[in-house]
Amino acid sequence: MRIAIVGGGAAGFFAAINVKENYPEAYVVIFEKSSSVLSKLKISGGGRCNITNAAKSINELSKAYPRGEKALKKMFQRFSNVDAMEWFQKRGLPLTIQQDNCVFPVSQNSQSVIHCFLNLCEKLNIAIKLNSGVRSLQMQNDKFILGFQDGNRDSEEFDFVIVTTGGSPKPEGLDWLKKLGHEISTPVPSLFSLSIKDQKLNKLMGIVVEDVVLKIQSEKFSSNGALLITHWGISGPATLKLSSFAARFMNEKNYAFKLLVNWVGGRNDELIVQELWNISQNHQAKIMTNYRPFNLPTALWQSILDKCNISHSKLWGDCGKNDFNKIANSLSCDIYSVAGKTAFKEEYVTCGGVSLSSIDSKTLQSSFCKNLFFAGEVLDIDGITGGFNFQAAWTTAYIASFLGK
Ligand SMILES: Cc1cc2nc3c(=O)[nH]c(=O)nc-3n(C[C@H](O)[C@H](O)[C@H](O)COP(=O)(O)OP(=O)(O)OC[C@H]3O[C@@H](n4cnc5c(N)ncnc54)[C@H](O)[C@@H]3O)c2cc1C
Repeated sequence: MRIAIVGGGAAGFFAAINVKENYPEAYVVIFEKSSSVLSKLKISGGGRCNITNAAKSINELSKAYPRGEKALKKMFQRFSNVDAMEWFQKRGLPLTIQQDNCVFPVSQNSQSVIHCFLNLCEKLNIAIKLNSGVRSLQMQNDKFILGFQDGNRDSEEFDFVIVTTGGSPKPEGLDWLKKLGHEISTPVPSLFSLSIKDQKLNKLMGIVVEDVVLKIQSEKFSSNGALLITHWGISGPATLKLSSFAARFMNEKNYAFKLLVNWVGGRNDELIVQELWNISQNHQAKIMTNYRPFNLPTALWQSILDKCNISHSKLWGDCGKNDFNKIANSLSCDIYSVAGKTAFKEEYVTCGGVSLSSIDSKTLQSSFCKNLFFAGEVLDIDGITGGFNFQAAWTTAYIASFLGK
């Protein structure tokens, strides 16, 4: 039995190792188009590799996937984040769970994950072929003929193929799979920062606001979490989450839309006014700039006062209803014009890929070609940051490695 894994990334290695453990007699080979394997995993999580997320339930875990939630919810019953952690630990890679549930190798170094995979491949006798980009796949008498990007190279014959080529930013990269009948959901980027040209905001660069709610004006998309203000706009978990939830919408709008920022954890005007009134009663003699409501960072609070045309030196006790309403409005619904996306040290994944409607999500087998399987980001599955994208790779690769059994 000859099994080809196309793509030497996270999903490819996980599929190869599991398939060989399931079918020890099989010849298993990983074809990688570039000159090195696992290059994305190496730089992942800032070089530390956020390998999964310790979300407490399958429900909570599935919610991290704007694309693929429903299908993954079922797949996680078979191989969850807990199973993934156990898998790695059993194979000699100790893991540690951070307070925010992100899971990393104890070594805090992605290289130890790579070592783990490469050692297992050696032990299990899995072949790894570099500079072996696959260009075509044909079926002939129940066998697959793999053609390579290097025109001089002979094609090779296999009984099973698992495609783990990762996200393809360009639709043409998926043409060879489309030709076989698979529906392709147009790839667009996900997980990016937003560019906002607003001098007053840009001046606040470096500030992290712990609990904001972001909303796209007149749309259903929203996110919450920490927000980082940068010199070109905004980044941080809340921004990345919004870029993931609204990846397709933002692409359609050419990354130009109105963003509503609630700086105070989604509190409404009424609650904010109440808090401001309490402060004015209890701290009458304090000047406004010195007593910050909701523990807002100083520079942000001062810029809100400027926006409301309120003097920094005004006393809290001299504030009236009109001031409170203006501040509440600026804190609950600060409107900005987004004018593009940027990449900033963060992960970047592709929304789109081989549509789940073209595969059997119980086995990850193609609906058009028997014995052809998919795993990882090549599928129309992607998650928010926090180890969820690797978890999708582990789960789909694990299921595909049973080859439909
Ligand atoms: C900077 C960065 C940091 C990230 N950090 C994290 C993180 O900490 N946690 C997390 O969960 N996710 C993270 N991600 C996302 C995560 O890396 C991906 O979701 C994951 O690598 C997907 O695995 P994959 O195997 O499907 O694809 P990939 O890892 O992209 O691997 C695909 C492989 O297939 C090869 N290939 C492509 N086409 C062909 C072909 N035709 N023939 C042969 N080979 C081919 C590619 O060269 C590549 O090596 C990060 C992403 C980036 C960019």
